[in-house]
Amino acid sequence: VVLFGGSAPPVPNPNRDILGGKGLGLQEMGRIGVDVPPGFTLITPLCQVYEKGDDLPNEVWDLVMEAIKQVEKDTGKKFGAEKNPLLFSCRSGAAISMPGMMDTVLNIGLNDTTVEALAKETDARFAYDSYRRLLDMFGDVTLGMPHEAFEETMNSLKMKYGVKNDVEFTADHLKELVVLYKNVYKERNQVFPDVPLEQLRSCIKAVFGSWNSERARKYREIKSITGLIGTACNIQTMVFGNLGQTSGTGVAFSRNPSSGEAKMMGEYLINAQGEDVVAGIRTPEPISKMKEVLPEAYDQFVKNVKLLERHFGDMQDVEFTVENGKLWMLQCRSGKRTGHAAFKIAVDMVNEGLTTKEDALMRIDSDHVRQILHPTFSKEALSSSRYTENVVAVGLAGGPGAAVGKIVFNTSEAEKLAHEKVILVREVTSPEDVGGMWASQGILTARGGITSHAAVVARGWGKPCVCGCEDLLVDEQAGKMTIKSTGKVFKEGDVISINGSTGEVVGVEIETSSVSVEGPFGVVLDWADQIADSLKVLANADSGADAAKARELGAQGIGLTRTEHQFFSPDRLPVVRRWILRGEGLDKVREFQRSDFRDIFKAMNGLPVTVRMLDPPLHEFLPRPSQVDDDMAKTLGYEDPDDLIDAIQSMHEENPMLGLRGCRLAIVREGLTTMQVEAIMHAAADLKEKDPTADPRPRIMIPLVGNVAEFKHQALEVKAAAKRVLEIRNLNSTDIPFEVGTMIEVPRAALVSDQLAGLLDEDGTNLCNFFSFGTNDLTQMTLGISRDDAGAFIPKYTEKDILPDDPFKTIDEDGVGWLVKFSALNGRKANPNLSLSVCGEHGGDPDSIKFFDSIGLDYVSCSPFRVPVARLAKAQAAI
Ligand code: ADP
Ligand code: MG
Ligand code: MG
Repeated sequence: VVLFGGSAPPVPNPNRDILGGKGLGLQEMGRIGVDVPPGFTLITPLCQVYEKGDDLPNEVWDLVMEAIKQVEKDTGKKFGAEKNPLLFSCRSGAAISMPGMMDTVLNIGLNDTTVEALAKETDARFAYDSYRRLLDMFGDVTLGMPHEAFEETMNSLKMKYGVKNDVEFTADHLKELVVLYKNVYKERNQVFPDVPLEQLRSCIKAVFGSWNSERARKYREIKSITGLIGTACNIQTMVFGNLGQTSGTGVAFSRNPSSGEAKMMGEYLINAQGEDVVAGIRTPEPISKMKEVLPEAYDQFVKNVKLLERHFGDMQDVEFTVENGKLWMLQCRSGKRTGHAAFKIAVDMVNEGLTTKEDALMRIDSDHVRQILHPTFSKEALSSSRYTENVVAVGLAGGPGAAVGKIVFNTSEAEKLAHEKVILVREVTSPEDVGGMWASQGILTARGGITSHAAVVARGWGKPCVCGCEDLLVDEQAGKMTIKSTGKVFKEGDVISINGSTGEVVGVEIETSSVSVEGPFGVVLDWADQIADSLKVLANADSGADAAKARELGAQGIGLTRTEHQFFSPDRLPVVRRWILRGEGLDKVREFQRSDFRDIFKAMNGLPVTVRMLDPPLHEFLPRPSQVDDDMAKTLGYEDPDDLIDAIQSMHEENPMLGLRGCRLAIVREGLTTMQVEAIMHAAADLKEKDPTADPRPRIMIPLVGNVAEFKHQALEVKAAAKRVLEIRNLNSTDIPFEVGTMIEVPRAALVSDQLAGLLDEDGTNLCNFFSFGTNDLTQMTLGISRDDAGAFIPKYTEKDILPDDPFKTIDEDGVGWLVKFSALNGRKANPNLSLSVCGEHGGDPDSIKFFDSIGLDYVSCSPFRVPVARLAKAQAAI
C-alpha cells in the first residue's frame, strides 16, 4: 500500500507494473509539486492475491487503515466522522490504460449522518447530489445493480418536477432522490452499507474484481494486452467539482490527439462531478473557455500541463477538478492519439527539445502506422458535389479518417455484418459496445463530446468517429435514425459515409483513397532507418504498381515476387491453362511474364528483385469440372468437353500443399524454369538496351527445396539459361549481375543447410547465393499445422494458453525460430557471403522482426503496406 500526494514520502523507483498507470501518475505528480488530492495505491500484485481468495488478507486491511490515518492527518478530515467527514474515491488503474473498462466509485463515506455533516459545512444541495451519486455507483459497481434502474428513477423525478437537467434539482429534490434510490436497493433485496469502512472495503474488492469483468477481458483480447498481473486500486481524497459555479471538472490533452497540433484540447463542465464529462451526459464546454470562467485555475492548469509534458516527455491526457476555484489534478497519462497525431507529436517534441528521437520512436506503435495508411476522402472527393450536397448532419470530429458502410444500430449486428463494412450508429456508446466498435469501419453517435468513450476508443483504434451529432435521433428499436432538422430518415442497412476529420455525415457512399509517406511520417521513418541500418526491409510485390508503391513506402528492394499471381487475368488464364493441360504455348506465357518483370525491374531500378520460380500446384489455375462448357473446351483445344474434364481430374491431388509444386514441378515439367529465367533475363536486358545506365538486379529463388540435389538441378538450369540469354543479348554477367538462391521452407532444407550453402559450381564459385526463409510453409510443415485449417483451433489454443500466439502471425521462436537460426548459422559457416532473409508473413510482424534482427538476418520482406511497420519495428528492436 503506497501513499501519494500530501506528505507521502517519494517512492524510490516508481514502477508502472506495480502501481498501475493511474497510481504512477498520481505518485509522480505529487513528487514534482503538482497538487493532487492525497491518497494511496493498493498495488497490482494484490489484485492476484484478491483473485485467489476473493478477499484480501488482514495484514493488507491493516495497512489500509494505517494509510487512511495518514491521509486524515494530511487533510485534517476524518473518514466516517460526524464532523468534517473525509470522503474517498476508489479507482481502478492497470499498467496499460483501458479507458472506461474497469470501475470507479466516488463519494465513499457518505451515509445518512455524514451527509448531514457535509450539508452543514458546505451546502445541502451539493451534499445530497454527492450522496445520490454514491448510491448509484456503489450499487452498480459492487452489487451489480443496473445503472438504468437509478437513471429511470431519476428520470421519473425529473418528470415529476419538470426538471430537464440534473443541475436544476434542488436540495429537496435530491433528498427525495436519495430516498428513492434506497428503495431501488430494497426492491432488489440489496443493502447499502452505512458504515464507511465497509463501503470502502466493498469498493476495493469490486475494483480488483472488475479486472476480470467480461468487457475488460474483451478489451484486452482485442488489444492483445497480455502479461499484466492485474489492476491497482487507488483510494483518493474526494475533491468536489459539484460545489457550485466556481467548481467544475474536466479532461484535456496537452496537444490535439487527432491532428497532433501543439495546442491544448479539452472539455470541462461547471458544477459537475467525475464521469459527467467522459460519459457524455451533458455536452461540455471547450477548455479554452475555462480561461474566462475560472481564470486562476486555468492558468495553473496550463502550467501543470507544460510541466507534465516536460517531465514525461510525452503528450499528456489529464483529468482535473476545480473545487471552489482551487485546481486539483486527478490523473495524467500519455494520451492516446491517432496515427497522424503520433507522428506529428513525435517530430514536434523532438524539435522542441522535450524528448529524444529514440524515446519518441518508442512511443509510436504499429497501429499508428496502419492508421496513416488508412483511407481518407481525397481532396477531389471532398469538393465534389456528390459529397457537399449530401452532407446530412455535422457532429464533432471524434477520430479522423474516412469510413463508408451500412448502418447498424447495435454491437451484435455490427459483429454479424462486419465483413460487409458497417458503421455503428449509437445514441451514445457504452463500454459494452467495444466489440461492435471494433467490427465496424467507423462510429457515429448522437451524444457525447470528443473525450467521450466512443471517441477515445475510436481514436485508439484509428477508427473514424463522428460523435455528439445532436441533430441525430437514433431509434435502435425501430432500426432507424432521423435527422431532426430535415426529417430525413435512414434505415438499418443504408450506406452512409462519415468524415471523422470534420464531423460530417454524408448520406451516400463516397469513394476513399489511401495516403503516402510524407511530412512527419516520412521524417520518423527516416530516423528509424538511421537508428537501425543493419536489418533491411524489402517488399513482397507482384507487379510494377505494387513495386512502385513499396519503394515509395521505403522498401529497399523486393524479397519475393510471385508473378503467377498475374496469371489470373482474363486474357492470360486461357493461355496458362492450355500450357498446363496440353504443354502448348509456353512462349506466350514467357512473353507476358517478361513484360511484368520489365515493369518491376523499372520500379526497383538499382535494388534487388527476388523472383520466386513458379510454386503453386498447377490445378490451382484450372477450372472446376462444373465450370466446363463447350466454349471453354474449344478455347483450350478440346473437341469434347468431357475430355477437358478428364484432363482436369487427372491432375487432382489429395494433398496439394505437399504435392507436385515448387521445384518438384519444375523438375518434372521440363522447360518451366528455363522459360521463367528467360523471361526475367530478357526483361532485364530490354531495360539495359533502352537505357544503358539502367540497373536491374535479378535474384532467382528456387522454392520448396528439401534435397540438395533438387537445388543443384535447378540452380544449374537457371545459370545455363541466364548465360544463354546474356550471350544472345550481347551482355555479360557484370552488366546484369544475377544471383541464385533457395527458399528454406521444407524442414529438411533447414537441416541440410550447410550442404546447400556449400555447393560449388564447376568454376569453384558458390552455387547458392542466398537463403530466404519461407516461414509460412516452414511453420506449416514444422508444426504439422495446415495454414488453411488452422483457424478452427488456433484461436482456442491461444485462449487456453496452449500457444502464446498464432504461430502464423508471430514466429514460434523455440521451434521454427530455432530452425531458422540453426540454418542461418550453418549456412554462413559454409558460405560466409550467404545472404539471409525472411519472406513469409512474419517479415511484417513487429515481434518476429525483433527475433530476426537478433539472429543477424540481412533483411525481412513483407507486403508493401507493412514496410513502414517493419521499418519502425526494426528501429524499436535496436533501441
Ligand atoms: P477512469 O479510469 O474510468 O477514467 P477514474 O478513476 O479516472 O476512472 O475516475 C473517473 C472520474 O472520477 C475522474 O475523471 C474524476 O473526474 C472523478 N474522480 C475520481 N477520483 C476523484 C476524486 N478523488 N475527487 C474528485 N473526482 C474524482
Ligand atoms: Mg480517468
Ligand atoms: Mg512456400
